[in-house]
Amino acid sequence: MSSIADNIGSVTRRIQKATLQSGREPDSVHLLAVSKTRPADDLIAAYAAGQKAFGESYLQEALDKIQALSGKADIEWHFIGPVQSNKTRQIAESFAWVHSVDRLKIARRLNEQRPEALPALNICLQVNINNETSKSGCRLDDLDNLIAEIGQLPKLSLRGLMAIPDPEQSETDLRKSFRTLATALRKLQRDHPDAGPLDTLSMGMSDDLEAAIAEGATWVRVGSALFGSRPAKRSQS
Ligand SMILES: *Cc1c(COP(=O)(O)O)cnc(C)c1O
Repeated sequence: MSSIADNIGSVTRRIQKATLQSGREPDSVHLLAVSKTRPADDLIAAYAAGQKAFGESYLQEALDKIQALSGKADIEWHFIGPVQSNKTRQIAESFAWVHSVDRLKIARRLNEQRPEALPALNICLQVNINNETSKSGCRLDDLDNLIAEIGQLPKLSLRGLMAIPDPEQSETDLRKSFRTLATALRKLQRDHPDAGPLDTLSMGMSDDLEAAIAEGATWVRVGSALFGSRPAKRSQS
């Protein structure tokens, strides 16, 4: 079995190769280590290998790890799971980024609950790119209205868009999904120049990061390629 440090090395090489092949700057793509369901020791191993950004999906589990790793002050915590409104306060207090904002109510609460002493919370709007009714994310059609409102919230920094396309699609359709998100971001940059930096496309995971980078991903969210496969099922909020 390869170590977490080895895996970080090989994923970093995949990212470099993909950026090179699409004529992009190597440092234009960031690696988010998705550490949900992993014990704190796995994060410590990744940190020792130089990884600083970690993505978590389950709040209580994340808070335990944030506590356990609180001595490592340069870790950047990203929340990437569905956000329930009764969890917004702890998310606003403990994370640097939230990739999975998909409605105005959640954005307003995060803005109100972000502590004054902290910099603005970086957020992405999660878009339901393949319109599957079961998954979270707003519709592409909703983005304009959402951004007009969210762009006004002072304690949020609107960084861009996030999507989890249907992994069962063909390679071609997957590329098309990533391209749709990239096109939507460019339109928002044009139509809402004052809404926020709008410099981020959070897309691509262990199996499809090359396709996402080819279409403009700036954060790839990688779990199993770094930490091994996860237990199949999990019930926690
Ligand atoms: C679990 C998860 C990932 C990582 O998926 P892998 O296939 O393990 O790389 C990425 N993004 C989100 C939102 C996730 O929940």
